Amino acid sequence: MSSTAWTDVDEYVADLLIGRDENLAEALQACEDAGLPPISVSAAQGQFLNLLATIQGAGKILEIGTLGGYSTIWLGRALPADGTLVTLEVDPTHAAVAESNVVAAGLGSRVDIRVGNALETLPQLEVEGAGPFDLVFIDADKPSIPEYVTWALRLARSGAVIVVDNVVRGGAVLDSDSDDPTVRGVRAMNELIAAEPRLTATVLQTVGSKGYDGFALAVVDAKSA
Ligand code: SAM
Repeated sequence: MSSTAWTDVDEYVADLLIGRDENLAEALQACEDAGLPPISVSAAQGQFLNLLATIQGAGKILEIGTLGGYSTIWLGRALPADGTLVTLEVDPTHAAVAESNVVAAGLGSRVDIRVGNALETLPQLEVEGAGPFDLVFIDADKPSIPEYVTWALRLARSGAVIVVDNVVRGGAVLDSDSDDPTVRGVRAMNELIAAEPRLTATVLQTVGSKGYDGFALAVVDAKSA
């Protein structure tokens, strides 16, 4: 199957099951207008994240890697009226676009965008007593994902869901000799998850408009629940 077919199927799924969504379309347009890279999750993946948060009944969500807030809106829409989402973004320009998009989507009062390196803002969240989080979505720099998973474990409740994007990287994850820091980060995260008794996890390969990649999905303390 060609990558053109993957994109066509993504469009078919989005058209049939999701439909035109003005807030999300405007958010993507604002990202493009501001010159942000086109690396948001796809609509089908956004809906997947929304469904995961809904199934989980997530009232507190942590996102690492905001970009223009596209996935933030998908996740934020699954929150109950008193729910909250904290999202961490290192680039102030990305964060400003996200802020505007989140407000336009009617989620401004429930979404807290923290600007800074997540490896610095995560310890601040712990000091503040933020959390415990019901769902953590990790979608920032890949070399740091082992640290992000470790932080997610510290800040998440038992039964929480942790999702990590871009963990297959066109199959490059198989290369144990890779000197690509993103591949090394993903492989180190997989080994960390495999050795962590509190996590029950899998990796789901994905194809679509974002190419060939995958999500890692883990549940905290699933075996003792
Ligand atoms: N989750 C977004 C979506 O689907 O709409 C896409 C996020 S994009 C793939 C990754 C984002 O992580 C970028 O905006 C980048 O600036 C941010 N980022 C990279 N390194 C970071 C770090 N150390 N701390 C916080 N954010 C970081």
